[in-house]
Amino acid sequence: MARTPPTPQFGEPWWHSQTSVVAGAKLEGDQRCDVVVVGGGVAGLHAALRLSACGADVVLLERDICGGGMSGRSSGFLTPDSELGLHQLMGRFGAAEAATLWRIAADGAALIVDTARAEAIACDLQSVDCLFVGIGESGATTIRAEAEARAAVGFDYQLMDEPSLAAVHPGGYQAGLAYGDTEAADPFAYCRGLRDVLIERGVQVYEGSPVTAIEGSAVVTERATVHADRVVVCLDRMPPSINARASEQIYHAQTVLCVSEPLSAVQIAALFPRGRFQVWDSTAVYSYYRLTGDDRLLLGGGSALTTFARDPLRSPGVIRAVIRGFRARFPDLGGLRFTRWWPGLIDVTRDLLPVIDADPEEPTVQYVFGCAGLPWAAWGGDHAARRIMTPGTEDLTRFFGWSREALVPSGLQGLLGKPLSFAIDILDARRVP
Ligand SMILES: Cc1cc2nc3c(=O)[nH]c(=O)nc-3n(C[C@H](O)[C@H](O)[C@H](O)COP(=O)(O)OP(=O)(O)OC[C@H]3O[C@@H](n4cnc5c(N)ncnc54)[C@H](O)[C@@H]3O)c2cc1C
Repeated sequence: MARTPPTPQFGEPWWHSQTSVVAGAKLEGDQRCDVVVVGGGVAGLHAALRLSACGADVVLLERDICGGGMSGRSSGFLTPDSELGLHQLMGRFGAAEAATLWRIAADGAALIVDTARAEAIACDLQSVDCLFVGIGESGATTIRAEAEARAAVGFDYQLMDEPSLAAVHPGGYQAGLAYGDTEAADPFAYCRGLRDVLIERGVQVYEGSPVTAIEGSAVVTERATVHADRVVVCLDRMPPSINARASEQIYHAQTVLCVSEPLSAVQIAALFPRGRFQVWDSTAVYSYYRLTGDDRLLLGGGSALTTFARDPLRSPGVIRAVIRGFRARFPDLGGLRFTRWWPGLIDVTRDLLPVIDADPEEPTVQYVFGCAGLPWAAWGGDHAARRIMTPGTEDLTRFFGWSREALVPSGLQGLLGKPLSFAIDILDARRVP
């Protein structure tokens, strides 16, 4: 009888072993600059890139290392799809506004891809089409709804029924929707490369420098303070000491990710007989997978019970279940060995769209949080910077403003608790009328 391969090792994201990290300087003495960016994930790095391109004198403060947060833990799918499908956006905003939002996310993905190419950042950038697969009859219905939404706004797609999908991607799914012009990358290498570009351009990047408070436009760290005209805050975690209102609005959705040893050509053909895809399924806590440039499988997912857990998971139960689910769909790959797994908490808001706006009580401080996707983060950081530097930048606060209604009002949230309120609001955000 074939033995089930062992559970992968818990540890740092596999990406970290692919890129060597030279620790950056810490902020040691007080400084003055035009704009301080707080947070060195994709959002903060892109904010700093735009600000410096517009001629600002910029300081970036990062708690650990740039890319060491969620950006560098992610699976590196660069697609406009994130937590909300087009049909869900359309149900909420109508066709024209949904198309606007989709194009924003696509612009965010293009920003990353174009920057990686223009700056020659080695980050395993690959062109790979998307494949959204439906599980069961309800999944097939979701896939058809997404196809109709794409048709309504004139976006390309290919809709596949069960037999035609099985020919390009077996796995027993009931329907599939494919679309192209999308990429994937090693997100940690991208962040590290972009950090180096910023330093070359004169941005002062301080790592190992956690911000403890923002007082007007003075940004306070443990050792020193940076005084600036403007501040852009791009954090995934918002302690109340930095901003109590933002802290209330940030929620986290837990996901776990693992990586396999390289697949053989036969295994790749069993998974993708006619070409590779980056794949995710239609379930509420979806699984997702793609191949890296060196043919490893990245596989992620979660569980309904742990999605709203406050702290990153350390026990392997969820990743084991995700791997079991994958093996059940692809028995030919049953012997594939996964070598490493790691958890992550995706920072989201209650309606799953980011906040990219100035603090109403402190207009010199712009916030970017709840990005739920690398493209949103890149676009959000860039947009916040343009709002500061480029007069006439389009006002999109109708989507990304601070004061958005959630189904569960704050008072009731106090009674229900944050996880339950969040779960109710997310179901509402994803509901299609
Ligand atoms: C396992 C996993 C898989 C994912 N897969 C994908 C995917 O395939 N595609 C996709 O588009 N999205 C994916 N995501 C989501 C994506 O990673 C995030 O939405 C995105 O990285 C958010 O970027 P960010 O810059 O807002 O946050 P982060 O990258 O988390 O950046 C915030 C930064 O702020 C720093 N920071 C925090 N507190 C302080 C402080 N007090 N002072 C200074 N700095 C501080 C942190 O260290 C961090 O570097 C995934 C997420 C996870 C966890």
